[in-house]
Amino acid sequence: MHISEIYKSIYKYYGDTTPLLFDCGKLCNGACCESSDDEETGMYLFPGEEKLFKDNPDFKIVSSEFEYAGKVADILICKGYCDRNLRPLSCRIFPVIPYIEKDNFKLIFDPRAKSVCPLVELDGFSQLDKEFIRKTENVIRLLMKFKETRLFLDGLTDILDDFLRFSI
Ligand code: SF4
Ligand code: SF4
Repeated sequence: MHISEIYKSIYKYYGDTTPLLFDCGKLCNGACCESSDDEETGMYLFPGEEKLFKDNPDFKIVSSEFEYAGKVADILICKGYCDRNLRPLSCRIFPVIPYIEKDNFKLIFDPRAKSVCPLVELDGFSQLDKEFIRKTENVIRLLMKFKETRLFLDGLTDILDDFLRFSI
């Protein structure tokens, strides 16, 4: 089984679950989608996830500078709208991101989202839907079991560390 099948199951598992119990896009006019249409602000694809998007004309896939497991991570660039049933994992968990600590992890607000997302700006982690957090924890726990996704998550944590080190 190709790992893309696992992402399909993950998408189904999330269903309509989003960070808040209501459409948080109403708080900001969907700022995270509006800003994902160039190579600076596109979303990372998880390893193997590109298979689900490469033939879709609504998306462009470009290589990033992020290397893990001898590979280069892909970035998905969209047009600012998409079929929500098909949106990638990075979009489903945004503005939350896993931070790996040895063989465990914690979910944090993605510090790179601060300039975009009012939830991060207002430090509203406790306001997030518990179901969203539970599902995201389960998904990350699952992905940590696969070597390639584990290395990807480790690399992502290094990027967060660099960002936190150099941001004020
Ligand atoms: S920027 Fe934040 S609040 Fe706005 S739609 Fe995206 S996740 Fe929701
Ligand atoms: S892929 Fe969809 S959910 Fe993700 S940023 Fe683009 S429009 Fe928004």
